[in-house]
Amino acid sequence: MSLTLKLGKRGCFAKVSHRKANILFSFKRTIYPLILPVLLIVISAVTLWNWPSLINKAKNISEIKAFMVILPLMPYIIFSAVVLMGWRYNNAGLILTCLTLALAYFLFSHYGSLALQQKSAGLSILEAGAFLLPVNLAIFSMMAKRRIFTTFFVVCLLLLGLQIVAVFLLCRWPNSAHSPLWTGIHNIFPQMADTLSQVSTRLGSWFHESGPAALNHISLPALFAFSGTLLFLLIRFLFTHDAIQAGFAGILVASFLGISDLQTFPAAIIYFSAAGLILIITTIESSYFMAYVDELTGLQGRRSMNETLINLGHKYAIAMIDVDHFKKFNDTYGHKTGDQVLKMIAGQLDKITGSAKTFRYGGEEFAAIFPGKSAEEAWRHLEKYRQDIATTPFIVRSKQRRKGNSKSRGKLKAFGQKQARVTVSIGVAAPDKKLTTPEKVLKSADKILYKAKKSGRNRVMV
Ligand code: GH3
Ligand code: MG
Ligand code: MG
Repeated sequence: MSLTLKLGKRGCFAKVSHRKANILFSFKRTIYPLILPVLLIVISAVTLWNWPSLINKAKNISEIKAFMVILPLMPYIIFSAVVLMGWRYNNAGLILTCLTLALAYFLFSHYGSLALQQKSAGLSILEAGAFLLPVNLAIFSMMAKRRIFTTFFVVCLLLLGLQIVAVFLLCRWPNSAHSPLWTGIHNIFPQMADTLSQVSTRLGSWFHESGPAALNHISLPALFAFSGTLLFLLIRFLFTHDAIQAGFAGILVASFLGISDLQTFPAAIIYFSAAGLILIITTIESSYFMAYVDELTGLQGRRSMNETLINLGHKYAIAMIDVDHFKKFNDTYGHKTGDQVLKMIAGQLDKITGSAKTFRYGGEEFAAIFPGKSAEEAWRHLEKYRQDIATTPFIVRSKQRRKGNSKSRGKLKAFGQKQARVTVSIGVAAPDKKLTTPEKVLKSADKILYKAKKSGRNRVMV
């Protein structure tokens, strides 16, 4: 049972047992962020499927009639909420994505059915829109953590503006063959307008190549853009495990479904609303993760621990856990290998028995809270955990000599293929007559941890 972890540029490999803990951790991080986007898309599809019978049942209810009037505005209401969020969170990606979705929704809900009936030689606005939507989503997914009012943000806004101008200049409009902008240019610079028309016809010949029959208004280039973007987002998500990237994949799929069915009445409304909701939910989720979950280990962080402390009952035990001689470990094997050790220690802690709530307290310190248990009861579980850590082989292999001073290189070579020993010291405390609050119990656990260190480390003390 061993797992080889590649450790970045330095070319070190750490071989850690506990493959199961790591696989479970990766599984959770891969599946959880996808659940909500998938769920929202499924709910949208089911709503759409049942739409005729839903409307039939509710047709005499006056509130429903009023709701039907504002229904087409629903995506805009949701997008406005996203823009507000983007402004409050100072998040450029939210605002830009929202503008892209709003433009696409406007285009397809206003001109969709008209454009379906008309085919002209030039590039149509729907063909352009269906292609530009995934391209923009791919670009703005990379802006998910950038701030507003930065050069980047302004450049992206300009990019969106340029696309709108290009669509006005080059695309064929459903009602009249040309946009008012093109007609204006034609009146002043007829030659320039003719050139634009020729470009439009050339582009049209590429874009008229439509995909499968069921999606005949979505061109092959647009289908490639959608599938390429989906692949790009999923790969990014698998590498970063960032909920926002999973959200973007969901937004892409929802907006694709929204533009692929132009004849069923509320399809665009429902799917674009779903896309907006996915954006809101994944933003909230990722803010929660940033605030409560430790990025390196995936354990809950200090803020979450403070909330748990406030909500504890009368009987509980708190354990403070500290890695022994970790500074020396880092100095010997490098910070990245140290990080892998912290991950391994956290992965083991996550599996600790006794229904403990586990946290990364900070640095190389962890905490476990055992609700409903005495210090002695918690000790049994912690002792097993300590033994597991002490007997877990952590093999550090150097694939190539590390950069750094000759002294540290020498050390690494000497330790080359050997197993590194990692141990932890633990202090446990529970409330009594003196320790009346969780804060006092925590301080006491910390003092006992200090005693465990003084007494020789690699031990659990009560
Ligand atoms: P002791 O047995 O007394 O606890 O000794 P120690 O060396 O573990 O304790 P000390 O407080 O002197 O050093 C803690 C070290 O933990 C220093 C710091 O570089 C390292 N550390 C803290 N956070 C991280 C982290 O996120 N990653 C890595 N790799 N090292 C960390
Ligand atoms: Mg420490
Ligand atoms: Mg330490």
